[in-house]
Amino acid sequence: MPSTILVVEDEPAIQELIAVNLTFAGHKVLRAATAEQAATLVRAELPDLVLLDWMLPGASGVQFAKQLRGDERTRDVPIIMLTARSNETDKVDGLEAGADDYVTKPFSPKELMARIKAVLRRRAPQLTDDLVDIGGLALDPATHRLSGVAPGGVRRTLEIGPTEFRLLHFFMTHPERVYSRAQLLDQVWGDHVFLEERTVDVHIRRLRHALSPTGHENLVETVRGSGYRFSVAEQRLVVV
Ligand code: CA
Repeated sequence: MPSTILVVEDEPAIQELIAVNLTFAGHKVLRAATAEQAATLVRAELPDLVLLDWMLPGASGVQFAKQLRGDERTRDVPIIMLTARSNETDKVDGLEAGADDYVTKPFSPKELMARIKAVLRRRAPQLTDDLVDIGGLALDPATHRLSGVAPGGVRRTLEIGPTEFRLLHFFMTHPERVYSRAQLLDQVWGDHVFLEERTVDVHIRRLRHALSPTGHENLVETVRGSGYRFSVAEQRLVVV
C-alpha cells in the first residue's frame, strides 16, 4: 500500500535523490527544507513516516522530532533521522528525541528504502504489502485478495469492499487490541477525515458480513463501551 512520506532535508540534491527513489517505490512524497515548513505540511496532512535531516537551518531535526513526539496527533508517526554524524552520543540523542531509526550519510538509496520498509513493518504493518495470515484468514494487500478457511478445511475467496479490506488489514496487523471508533477512523480512514463514529459501526457490520461465508465474522469482537477488537484467542482455544 503506498505510504505518505515527509522528507525534511535542506540539501536540494539529497532531497531530490530521496524523493525520486520514494516516488519510484510507489510512495507519495511531501518535501520540506526546514522544520518550520515541515510543521506546516504536517498540519495539513499527517504523513505515515518522516525522514528527518539532523542539521537544518532554523530548528534542528532533533527539535522537530521532539515537537512531533510531544503532540498527540503526531506522537506515533515513525521517524528516521538522517545525519552526517556517526558518533554514538548523537545516535543516542536522536533515539532519545524519539527517532525510530538513524541513517548515516552517505547512504545508498537501497539501504534507505530497506530501513523505511523495516520501520513501517514494525510501526505500521498495515502500510506494507506483506501477506497477513491469521486465524484462518489470508489477506494479500498486493492483490487485494482475501480468503478464509471454512470449517472442513476448504479455502474460499471472500468478497470484500475496499474500506472493509483496509479495516480488516488494520485489524489483522493489530490483533488482540481494543480500538475505539475514533482510533479506527484515524487509522483506517485517515486523520482530518471528519466522519461520524457510527460510520465505523456500518463498516464493521459489512466486514462481518463479508467474513461470514467461512464463519470468521466472530473474530471481529464488540468490546462494550470501548470499541472493537480483532481476536483469534477464542478460536485458538477451540482448535487446541
Ligand atoms: Ca542538512
